[in-house]
This record gives sequence, structure tokens and C-alpha cells, in this order.
Amino acid sequence: MLSFKDIRFTYAAAPDGVLALDGVCLDIEPGRHVVVLGANGSGKSTLARLSNGLLLPLSGDVSVDGVSTAEESGLREIRSRVGMVFQRPDDQIVATTVEEDVAFGPENLGIPRAELRTRVDQALAAVGLLGLERREPHLLSGGQKQRLAIAGAIAMQPSYLVLDEPTSMLDACGREDVLAIIATLRAQGHGILHITHDLADMAGADTAVVLNRGRVLYAGTPSGLVSRAELLETCGLELPALSILGMRLQELGVPVLPTDMTVSGILEALWL
Ligand code: ADP
Ligand code: MG
Repeated sequence: MLSFKDIRFTYAAAPDGVLALDGVCLDIEPGRHVVVLGANGSGKSTLARLSNGLLLPLSGDVSVDGVSTAEESGLREIRSRVGMVFQRPDDQIVATTVEEDVAFGPENLGIPRAELRTRVDQALAAVGLLGLERREPHLLSGGQKQRLAIAGAIAMQPSYLVLDEPTSMLDACGREDVLAIIATLRAQGHGILHITHDLADMAGADTAVVLNRGRVLYAGTPSGLVSRAELLETCGLELPALSILGMRLQELGVPVLPTDMTVSGILEALWL
């Protein structure tokens, strides 16, 4: 389990020691998909950086399968168990070909050559980039670059994936591809911490958590959040009309795919 226990955090540069996170508790189990929502500045990226020890809490504890991020000797293991994907795909490219980029992480873990090849191929297959092994990453589309970043993370075979606004720079197609990959990884047993400011992204999740000024204002089902209009407004979150429709239909038993709350997706589900 990836576990945040009563986390308080402040940046040294913050005025008057204002807390970026204040009393946050959150657990992510393998095979579960938790979406963390919040407006700009609510503390989402801080939470991501705490998940693998890039930052340490002021008080409280973050642990990964029982090992605290405060234990320096456990950090290497923690970083192999918690894969990270960030908002800007360009910032995550580390090599000059697609395959080298995916191999970079596992290579650093000391994975033998033969296994490395298998891992790279499996990771590229999982994100639909097979055949582009020799391509220069900079020549990929935004959506392909983000899928490459996900491949790099899953080639480490992490138990948990932390994705910090992975779709915010992508067009609609790129976004749908990434959401579908997240759903598949969750089904394969990865624990997913998916950070977003877009309520449409929570449809396929088990749990939605809303952060506002560093505090958790909601933790529960995505469908339960839909009816909390006042809370959403307080937190500066806006529900897309298609998501409201899609989720209500789901509750009525119409098989709308969580990853396809589009006009065509909803029409298709209604026609069944
Ligand atoms: P989000 O990802 O939800 O936009 P962040 O976690 O980036 O929120 O930021 C939470 C709070 O911490 C904000 O008030 C932000 O201004 C502050 N903050 C973030 N990064 C830094 C930093 N490097 N130094 C000082 N304050 C920061
Ligand atoms: Mg952020």
C-alpha cells in the first residue's frame, strides 16, 4: 500500500510558513485507482513529490509497502516501486531514441540486457508504441511522448504509478489514449494515484479525493462527488455536462465506458 498518514508539509520559501498540505491522509492499494482533484495551488504536485521521497513531510509519514520515505536506506526500493509520470512530456525525455528512453530506468536498476529487451518491448506494447523503437522522442506527438513517459515508468515494473496531470497538455485523442492505458494498468494490478484538475478524468476511478488549500475536503466515490455542487464550487472545480450525463446513466445501469464519456461513447452505450 502507498500510504499518506496525517501529512503536513510547507516549502521553505512559503510566506509565513503556510502549509502546502495540512493533515492529508490517503491510502492507495494495488489494483485501485484513486483520483486526486483540486484547483491550481491546492497541493496536488506536492503530494506527488512526497509519494517517492522527492520531498519529506514536515510531520506525518509516507510509506510504500510498509517502508517509510524518511528511511534513506529504503529510498532506492521505494523509487523502483513508485513510478512517476509528470505533466509535461517534453521534460521527461532522457534519451535520443524511444527504446533507449524506456530502457533508461531499468538499466539504472541493473537489470540484465536480455531482460531489459523484454521489459522495453512489453512496456512499448502496453502503451501502443511498438514499431517506433528507433524513433527520436522529440519527433513524437504530445500524446505519444506522454505514452513514452508511461512506458518508461512501467518498464521499472512499479507496484504504484503516480501521474501528475498526465493529460493536461494533450489533445482529446491523446487524452483518451492515456486514460485507457491507466484503466488497463489498474486492471493489471497497479495502484494508481492520478492527479488532475479535470473532473471528467474521475469517471473510471474507485475513489475521488478533493484537495483545497492543502486539505482533503472530499474522499469518496466519484459519483458521490457529482452531487456536491457547493463543495465543487468552493474548490474551483467544474463538472463537464457530458460527465454528469454519463455518470447518471451508469447509475441507471447503462454501460457507458468510464473512459468514453463522449457524445459518441454515450450514444453507443444507449444503443446497446
Ligand atoms: P498544485 O499541484 O495543486 O497546483 P502545488 O502542490 O504545486 O499545487 O502547490 C501547493 C502550494 O505550495 C501552492 O501554494 C504553491 O504556491 C506552493 N508551492 C509549490 N511549489 C513551491 C515551491 N517550490 N516553493 C514554494 N512554494 C511552493
Ligand atoms: Mg501541480
